[in-house]
Amino acid sequence: MLKRWFWRAQISILCACPPLHGVVVRHGIGSNRSGKLWIVTLLRLALRAIPALFSYCRDKLKKRVVLPRVSVGITTRCTLNCDKCVGHIADLQTHEDFPLDVLLRDIKALLSHVDYIYAFNLSGGETFLHPELDQIIRFCAASNRIGTIDLSTNGTLIPNQATLSALRDAKATVRISRYAPALQPNVEQLKTILKENGIHYLHESGDYWYDTGDLGRLQEGSAKRRFSICAQRLCPTCYQGNLYLCSPSLVLTEKEGAGGSEDSIAVRAVSAAEFRRQWKELHKKHVITTCSYCQGFSYQTPRVPVAEQRERHAAD
Ligand code: SF4
Ligand code: SF4
Repeated sequence: MLKRWFWRAQISILCACPPLHGVVVRHGIGSNRSGKLWIVTLLRLALRAIPALFSYCRDKLKKRVVLPRVSVGITTRCTLNCDKCVGHIADLQTHEDFPLDVLLRDIKALLSHVDYIYAFNLSGGETFLHPELDQIIRFCAASNRIGTIDLSTNGTLIPNQATLSALRDAKATVRISRYAPALQPNVEQLKTILKENGIHYLHESGDYWYDTGDLGRLQEGSAKRRFSICAQRLCPTCYQGNLYLCSPSLVLTEKEGAGGSEDSIAVRAVSAAEFRRQWKELHKKHVITTCSYCQGFSYQTPRVPVAEQRERHAAD
C-alpha cells in the first residue's frame, strides 16, 4: 500500500511539474537503484527544486504549453537485438534510419506547437548509427524551446568526430545503458572519449528490466491502476510524426494497428491550437487503450534480466 502510494505520488508530482521532471531527467534519478545513489540524487534534486518551482509558477502564470520530456526516435537500426526491448526493435521486419529532412520537419512542427520542452531525448535503436546525428543534435540545440538534450546509446559504438563536436556544443547528456560487459566491450573507451571531449554522460545502473509484455493480448487486472503508477507515461514519444504518451502505445498503434488514435497526436497534421487542445486532453487521461494490453513500468511489473539477446536472422 505504502509502495503504491509512493509511486503514485512521485509520478503525479513529476507529471504536474514539468521543470522538476526536467531536472530529474538531467540528473538521472530514474537510473539510480542503489540506496546510496538515491540519497545523492535526492540531495542534488533538492538543490535544484527551488529554481524548478519558479519555472513552474512562471509557466502557470503565462499559461505556457510546456512538455516535461519528449523522446524522438531517429532510427530503428541497432547493434543489439534485445528480447525485451521497450521499442520492440527485435520484432521489426525492417530497420532504417529516418531521413534527416523528415526528422527535422517533425521536430520543427512539434516545437512550433509548444512553448517549451524541458528535456528532449533522441532515441533508437542505436542512435550513434544514424549517419546525420550531428545535424539532428545541432538543429535541436539551436532551438530556444528546448531545455536540455539527451541521447540514448547502448554503449557499443564510438561516435565520429562530427557527433562528438555537436554533443559538446549542445551541452547534451549521453545516457549509456548498462549491460553485461560482453555486450559492451567498448564502453570504457566511450566514456573516456566523452570525458576528453567535455561531454556530460550518465552510465545508467539497472539490475533488471521491466517486462511490458508482448502487447498482443489483454492483461489481467485494472488498466487504470497500472496507468496510475506507470513511470513510462512520463516520457511521450514522437515517432514518424505522431506523439504517443508512451513507447508501448506507439508500438501497439504503429506495429499492431491496435492502439487508440485518441491516445496520440498527429503532430504533422494539426495546428498549434489543436495540438494544445489534444495535449491537454491526453495529459489529463487516467488510462489509455494500450494499458489494457501492457504490464506497465512500476514496482508491480514483472522483472526480467537486462538485455537478453535474441538470435539474429540472416536478413537483419
Ligand atoms: S540496445 Fe536493445 S533495448 Fe536498446 S534499442 Fe537496441 S535492441 Fe532495443
Ligand atoms: S500503456 Fe503501458 S507503459 Fe503506457 S501508460 Fe499504460 S501501462 Fe504505462
